Amino acid sequence: MFNNTDKRYNQFSEYLKQKFGVKVYKITLDAGFSCPNRDGTISSGGCIFCDETGSFSRAHSSLLSVEDQVIEEIENQRKRFKAEKFMSYFQAYTNTYKPVSELEKIYYSSLKHPDVVGISIGTRPDCVDEDKLNLISDISKDYYTWIEYGLQSIHDKTLKRINRGHDYNCFLRAYEKTKEKGINVCVHIIVGMWETREEIMQTVQELARLKVDGIKVHMLCALQGTKLAQMYENGEIDFCTMEDYTYLLCDMLEILPPETTIHRLAGNGHRFTLVAPDWMGAKFECLNLLDREFLRRNSYQGIKYSPQ
Ligand code: SF4
Repeated sequence: MFNNTDKRYNQFSEYLKQKFGVKVYKITLDAGFSCPNRDGTISSGGCIFCDETGSFSRAHSSLLSVEDQVIEEIENQRKRFKAEKFMSYFQAYTNTYKPVSELEKIYYSSLKHPDVVGISIGTRPDCVDEDKLNLISDISKDYYTWIEYGLQSIHDKTLKRINRGHDYNCFLRAYEKTKEKGINVCVHIIVGMWETREEIMQTVQELARLKVDGIKVHMLCALQGTKLAQMYENGEIDFCTMEDYTYLLCDMLEILPPETTIHRLAGNGHRFTLVAPDWMGAKFECLNLLDREFLRRNSYQGIKYSPQ
């Protein structure tokens, strides 16, 4: 139904395959960035769910230069998947949190390898400005380019509760400026932060109104050493079941525009530091449940989307 597959939603990996003619693999990079919400600039505690890896999904490799990380990962992925094309992905911490002259060197050093066709930069909406966006916009003239903004929720009371350190309006300003520069934007949101179903759906409805280019959905999870893990142990939060999460995912995808690419719905990272919920690592089971739910409803992404 999407991208010449039987998928009922616009999976980003399949979208990339259509666009480039081969599968494109993301290379997660750690360029040694920090985060203003951890280093004391905004707060020193960070988001309540953030552990010491700063949302990095694999072992740190910051002892290697960015260029060498790219070479090493390309070799690994070629061996494992026979991969041919790649996107560099700055994932750990806040990847625009350095002066623009340094960012320029870091980003371009990840693009030197001839098989790297694009770049994706994960950051906070309060860590971009005109100069940084101009740099990323320049890169986008030669490379397939995305910015990934952590938003998590449109509800300021939730952003406060998770100690996010910015509000929804801050996201909206950054989003609009980024779109003015012609850069693709993927927005990260989190399910399970003490919000009602209605509040979660309001966030997705707003992203549908903005017609965001891409979305990543995370289930809130408690990792060892985080404030959230402490709250979980104190009985201050509980997590939903995998079934409830996938039904909700289905509801969410139904109201998004069909053009919005779906970058992530479930993951299998953090195996060794996961505290709860215990089903978090079962990525394929979760995605299979979602496929079955779409089939059961005879539904698909965008079926309930109404342009505003
Ligand atoms: S913005 Fe990202 S890196 Fe910074 S504290 Fe929050 S989750 Fe961690």
